Amino acid sequence: MSVLTTMKDVFKITLPTPFPVGDVNVYVVRGDKLTLIDAGAKTEEAWQTFKYQLGELGYKPSDIEQVVITHHHPDHVGLLDYLNDELPVIGHPKNQPWISQDEVFFQKNEPFYLELFTQFGIDPAFIKNVDMTNELRYSCHRSLTMSVVEGDSLPGMMGWRVIETPGHAQSHIVLYRQEDGLLIAGDTILAKISPNPLLEPPQFGETTRPRPLVQYNASLRKLQKLQMTKVVTGHGDDVNLPHELIQKRLDSQKERAYGVLHMLREQPMTAFEVCTRLFPKVFHKQPVLTMSETVGQLDFLEDLGEINIEVVNKQFIYHTK
Ligand SMILES: [Zn+2]
Repeated sequence: MSVLTTMKDVFKITLPTPFPVGDVNVYVVRGDKLTLIDAGAKTEEAWQTFKYQLGELGYKPSDIEQVVITHHHPDHVGLLDYLNDELPVIGHPKNQPWISQDEVFFQKNEPFYLELFTQFGIDPAFIKNVDMTNELRYSCHRSLTMSVVEGDSLPGMMGWRVIETPGHAQSHIVLYRQEDGLLIAGDTILAKISPNPLLEPPQFGETTRPRPLVQYNASLRKLQKLQMTKVVTGHGDDVNLPHELIQKRLDSQKERAYGVLHMLREQPMTAFEVCTRLFPKVFHKQPVLTMSETVGQLDFLEDLGEINIEVVNKQFIYHTK
């Protein structure tokens, strides 16, 4: 692990996480303010690594003047709890209930997930083993001090602007510097893998659940229109040919979806049945990730008008047309 100068005034720090994804990248941006983009998972190891690498750049944690978070996942926000309480935390408004671990929000989500799991045809015995809160111990208890949305600039970061990229997380934003086409992409673009389109409950009076994969594709198409010379990411290497990578991601997702369509042509199925066929070895170990991926493909096909849903005993049965 080492500190790398990626582009002008932007420095990458790589921190360990306890998650299967491996290390997370956070960025120090030098401007009118010294800004940290994302803060790793809340572990002592991540904190020690962070202090060491920050030191190699000539800074200490107390030099940081604000933190911008790309999205609310624990591996991107947990270390906020190790940083000074007074430090401004900037992000999309949808981060708030997650990063503050709002009990009311979590309680309200329980019936939502239960209904969703019933619709998807998940065996109730299996639901009991799904622990949705385990990762939260690596997250933080902080609040946003400033909300930013599409098109906003950022205090102390001249030349940067916020672009909303919902999909992997509903709270996801990326930061774009027009001057040299640098994009700080969080988990929206990753060099080696496509991020999971995680299922999230509605927020702010929304009445239906978001369709994360459909949103994610729209976010990628929006980014494709940008002049990008380089993308720095939340996990793994930088991406030097972002337009090509985005096209590759969109194409391979479509291919996966048509694989699902092929399965449904043979026999109508619930989302859970599709999931067990797509991920026979991992669905029981990673139920949330594999179900999110499956439902994403089904949402995509439904959005294209390729499939219909028939409701039988509260369960959604997916049919081809
Ligand atoms: Zn994430």
